[in-house]
Amino acid sequence: MILHPARMGLLNKRALIRQLQKAGVASRAELARSLGMSQPTAGKIVDELLAEKILEEVELTAVNESGLAQLGRPGRQLRLNRSQASFLGIQLGIRETQLVELPLGATDENVRQISFQIPAVNKKPAAIWEHELRAAKKKLLAKKFLCVLLSVPGVVDETTNRLLFSPNIHWSENLDLAAIVRRIWNAPVLLVQEERALALGEHASNPGHEDFLLVEFSDGVGGAVIVGGKPLAGSLPISGELGHTPVLGNRRKCGCGATGCVETLVSTRGLLESFSSAHPKKKNHWPVLVNHIAENGVEPWLAHALDAAAVVIAGALNVLGLRRVVIIGTLTELAPAVLKHLSDAVKNGALWARFGEVECVGAPRRRSAGLVAVGIDRFIASETEWPANKL
Ligand SMILES: [Zn+2]
Repeated sequence: MILHPARMGLLNKRALIRQLQKAGVASRAELARSLGMSQPTAGKIVDELLAEKILEEVELTAVNESGLAQLGRPGRQLRLNRSQASFLGIQLGIRETQLVELPLGATDENVRQISFQIPAVNKKPAAIWEHELRAAKKKLLAKKFLCVLLSVPGVVDETTNRLLFSPNIHWSENLDLAAIVRRIWNAPVLLVQEERALALGEHASNPGHEDFLLVEFSDGVGGAVIVGGKPLAGSLPISGELGHTPVLGNRRKCGCGATGCVETLVSTRGLLESFSSAHPKKKNHWPVLVNHIAENGVEPWLAHALDAAAVVIAGALNVLGLRRVVIIGTLTELAPAVLKHLSDAVKNGALWARFGEVECVGAPRRRSAGLVAVGIDRFIASETEWPANKL
């Protein structure tokens, strides 16, 4: 196949950016070698990317085996730009919205964050949200962004850039959220499903794991599936919605309108509700629950909730053909016995565990890394045309 030179250049650029996403830092020679390019070809792409401020050059002092700086010329290394924010990340949560300024080389440890809350009871949540966003804009260091990445929970149609359904933030459903944000920043706005961003962040931090199911436990319970390093995409804009699978015998009402969803047992609220029924004299307060579990381990009320979640997770593993589960959120903040119980119960229900190894591990949330990965994929190293005119 003969590729048009411009297309070839784009593919090489993409490959080089991807390599730096994985490696963190690398020299020109290392990049050329790992990509199978000649040094002049790699050097030319690097120069272009430096001029576009996508990459930056850093002087790293070579260190010898005894940890002392070696004499001579320090190594000049390349990395994705960390000095200047390219994207603005906005994360819409049930109560809190967070804004992060994201350089291309951002990790969750090095981003600046601004947040605001909207009151639980109010008549015009959308108007308050817009007002608070305008106020937050003044506190940001960067004035212009290549694009805004808006992370939202719920069912997101990424092709039309609309939020279709949000069981826990109903006010956001019938709004053109992207239009509100565009009014403020005058930049393309891309809606990103929250769990998908978290899963891409996990993948960016552990590129060795190409296939896994990520499950987040927080105000709700959701998940995302990564296969071959990419989010699993079906014909419907819905996937990973583990939280809304019913549990037999569970009569609790869910925010989605159904009864018995597993989310009503293992979300923060669900766990607190079960804790209160089991221990009516204890304060119905998250830190109290955390301490109680640290002292008493996994009691029957908690085991019941974890077992229900494990059945849903194991079902997903069996159907999708996955053997790695990454757990993030509240369950990772509880005593280690909790994750251990969940992990054992998942293995119990996963067919692969009968003759192979199933992993169920806890991890931190890497939302910023995930949003940057989406931004790079769509705006910096896009496989298709620049999509800005459509957003
Ligand atoms: Zn539900």
